[in-house]
Amino acid sequence: MNKNSSNIMALTPNTSNKRETICIFGTGDFGRALGHKMIQSGYPVVFGSRSTQKSSLIPKDAELLSHAEAAQKAAIIIIAIQRQHYNFLTSLAEILHGKVLVDVSNNLKINQYPESNAEYLAQLVPGAKVVKAFNTVSAWALQSGTLDASRQALNNKTEPLNNTYAWLSDSYLALGILGFFLFVLLGITSLPSVSNNVNWREFRFVQSKLGYLTLILCTAHTLVYGGNRFLSPSSYRWYLPNAYMLSLIVPCIVLVVKFVLILPCLDKPLTRIRQGWERNPQYSEQSNYIINKSAV
Ligand code: NAP
Repeated sequence: MNKNSSNIMALTPNTSNKRETICIFGTGDFGRALGHKMIQSGYPVVFGSRSTQKSSLIPKDAELLSHAEAAQKAAIIIIAIQRQHYNFLTSLAEILHGKVLVDVSNNLKINQYPESNAEYLAQLVPGAKVVKAFNTVSAWALQSGTLDASRQALNNKTEPLNNTYAWLSDSYLALGILGFFLFVLLGITSLPSVSNNVNWREFRFVQSKLGYLTLILCTAHTLVYGGNRFLSPSSYRWYLPNAYMLSLIVPCIVLVVKFVLILPCLDKPLTRIRQGWERNPQYSEQSNYIINKSAV
């Protein structure tokens, strides 16, 4: 995976333009995750909390102050606190007057309260401008970075979609999932309680045909992941292949040999031999005669 993912690096270039400070009330999961992203995006963040003792979980570039002190430093205040604890905001009504309060809260049940959380907040702090935002984003998604299609363009550059990479990454996942599914199926059918209940044809189909299909899918999955390493001279440190390449050698040999053996010119005679065919029938007659005689 790309180490330059947006969750470990700044999303905006260092710019001399000072961005406006954002205040976040609440240092819980959501407040911290949002603060972290804001800092990555170049916004100074100040947290308003009941406790001003900084813990290691709070982003190190953020300030941590009391609610009143933090609110004075910003015009936008994100309320990352559950609705049932909003009532302390009435005591800050004067400081919050004219400021933008962002309500991010969700309720646990539908129609839990007669009015929406944002309406309730507006009632508590009538002088503030209340807006609703971010409530559909989870703290986990903010914290774990952008793994979906809505990823941000780094350094404000929009790069064209790399079709090859997109196909490779999707194939890698699809082959892995299918291969793993068949692998589990093979494991289940090899259990005595299951194998006793299938006939020989079914058992052979699963263990032979599906077995090879599983091997093909899992080998392709691993090859898609980094098959091009075979072509890169830097992969051969001390002129030796690395562990990843070694793990592919045996399955590839098995598949190549199997492919050779199923060629009609080899498969037909082999099948006949397995069914009892002999090149020189007179030897079989002689051996039958010897067996019969010794039996007498
Ligand atoms: P949380 O981890 O429980 O954090 C809530 C924070 O509220 C606490 O850390 C605390 O911060 C503050 N708080 C608690 N009791 C308080 C009180 N009596 N008075 C003043 N402040 C109090 O909850 P969360 O997951 O961060 O969720 C916060 C809000 O974001 C909720 O309204 C939730 O619906 C919304 N939200 C969460 C997510 C998510 O994925 N978690 C997603 C969307 C929306 P201090 O200790 O710093 O005072």
